[in-house]
Amino acid sequence: MTDRPHRRSIVVATRNQHKLGELAEILAGADLEPLPDSVELPPEDGETFAENALGKARAAHEQTGRAALADDSGIAAAALGGRPGVRSARYAGEDATDEENLALLLEELGAADDRSVAYVCAIAFVDEDGAETVREARCEGTLAEAPRGDGGFGYDPAFVPEEIGDGRTMAELPPEEKHAISHRGRAARAMAAAMGAGR
Ligand code: IMP
Repeated sequence: MTDRPHRRSIVVATRNQHKLGELAEILAGADLEPLPDSVELPPEDGETFAENALGKARAAHEQTGRAALADDSGIAAAALGGRPGVRSARYAGEDATDEENLALLLEELGAADDRSVAYVCAIAFVDEDGAETVREARCEGTLAEAPRGDGGFGYDPAFVPEEIGDGRTMAELPPEEKHAISHRGRAARAMAAAMGAGR
């Protein structure tokens, strides 16, 4: 959209401040706006990350008339057949905290030999005219036996990304190091490329 006189402003269809913050850091050139309180987001009951992300972006676009971006993400453990997957936010119950969800994952994995996990993120964009784009990305890793580090959010204290290779968890990485390899960083950069550098 190079012929627009102003940078396009995009509503981000999330009430998760961590995600909004990360997307703003990753898409640093884009004009992202928080979701107005009046917008009602649909329940995240789809079977895929893409379906859930698209549902949120569509709802925000339809209720604001603006371009909208949404992320749906989670963690999949190989030894659990891909669980918690799309249920990552509610793994330990409807109103579970990040700490409760992580504690349950550590407990369920127990002393499993296969500690492979992957973060998955789908990002959906619905433009001003309703045209839809979805990009999805993964980040492979292993689950540490106990949480370490104060950065990031969610499952980060126990997620040891394969690509870093020195055993640090996502919560021990500075934000730019996390974004360079994370599921959200990759999906957002792919989306920015599809959108023409995010504006
Ligand atoms: P939802 O996309 O709002 O359904 O929730 C995503 C769930 O996956 C939450 O439980 C997050 O804590 C978790 N999650 C998603 N991305 C990350 C991440 O980058 N780090 C840690 N946890 C994440």
